[in-house]
Amino acid sequence: MSVRLSRSNISRKEIEAVIDVLEVGYLAMGKQVHLFEKNLAEFIGGEVEVACVNSGTAALHLACQAIGLRPGDEVLVPSLTYVASFQAISATGAKPVACDVELETGNLSLEDARTRISSKTKAIMYVHYASNPGNADEILNFCRNNNLRLIEDAAHSFGCLYKNQKIGSFGDVTCFSFDGIKNITSGEGGAVVSLDQELIQKVKDARLLGVCKDSDNRILGQRSWTFNVTEQGWRYHMSELMAAIGRAQLERFKNGEISDLRVSLADTYRNNLKNISGIRFLNYNKGEGSKIIPHILPILVDENKREDLKTFLKENGVESGFHYYPSHLLDYFKTSYALPTVEKMAKELVTLPLHTLMSIEDVEEVCVLVKRFMNSEKS
Ligand SMILES: *Cc1c(COP(=O)(O)O)cnc(C)c1O
Repeated sequence: MSVRLSRSNISRKEIEAVIDVLEVGYLAMGKQVHLFEKNLAEFIGGEVEVACVNSGTAALHLACQAIGLRPGDEVLVPSLTYVASFQAISATGAKPVACDVELETGNLSLEDARTRISSKTKAIMYVHYASNPGNADEILNFCRNNNLRLIEDAAHSFGCLYKNQKIGSFGDVTCFSFDGIKNITSGEGGAVVSLDQELIQKVKDARLLGVCKDSDNRILGQRSWTFNVTEQGWRYHMSELMAAIGRAQLERFKNGEISDLRVSLADTYRNNLKNISGIRFLNYNKGEGSKIIPHILPILVDENKREDLKTFLKENGVESGFHYYPSHLLDYFKTSYALPTVEKMAKELVTLPLHTLMSIEDVEEVCVLVKRFMNSEKS
């Protein structure tokens, strides 16, 4: 067999949408981006405003800038994340303060975060690890009580529900990624979502080199020739081609085509491997009204078996991954202190293949391999 860890799922719908844009011939940011933002706002609900950008990392960076982070500020962030979270914070000159995670979820440990608050702490960047929003209310209350802003790195959790609310529809500022392998893709891409109109306006200006209100003109197929700039800006806007792909993906996500299967595949893994000793799954958020549409499927195994399991899978045509090497161990973000839970999990984590070009049978075959390996290890 041959199973990739992750893949984009592109149908005729995306291809035709791109051809349509190419035929119109306007490729920069325009009507498609405007419509994608509208479609996303409607999907997420709660009267949010949306600003689309060219990556999830750009979304995080602009969110950090829009809440006013400056050199000298500190942001609490779990170490178990893609390094994008850390880079987005440090891009503003602020310092990412690496925190430990909960053993059961891989999400930020509030207990640890609490001990790292200082007079310089301005925000928490909360990562929904493996699509689990965890206890989002508790994090939000903690931020409100401590006068901190909350940026949710929801790169894994597009379309998930927490207490019957879509991720992004409540909270402070939420960032999504639409890179090639996320729950939906726009080729590359991302979005900043918030109920705070002023904040989204800042993001919209900053994504076009800081040119005030240029986004509005672009959508009309125009641009500003005389303009003002009041802040540092970047070339982070989304293109029409990306938005066309994103809109087609959103439709296919809404009708279940590329969302329901993720849930079924993950459930199949859990059902097939739940009684295998030596394998641990992270907690699913099974609270009232919550629904997880998983982006990745990490399991934990004994640290002495991890590399052998990965090799065994590879020899049998199954790609596996590792989310993530702890950010606080990277030279650029190295901490003077240890983070015991992240460091322990990092030795045990293996990500199994999960994407919507896989079938339930593919997952069952991967599970047979995992079981065969675990059983042979026992004897
Ligand atoms: C993918 C991802 C990002 C960055 O998104 P890009 O679109 O790849 O820039 C940030 N954080 C997490 C947790 C991610 O998985």
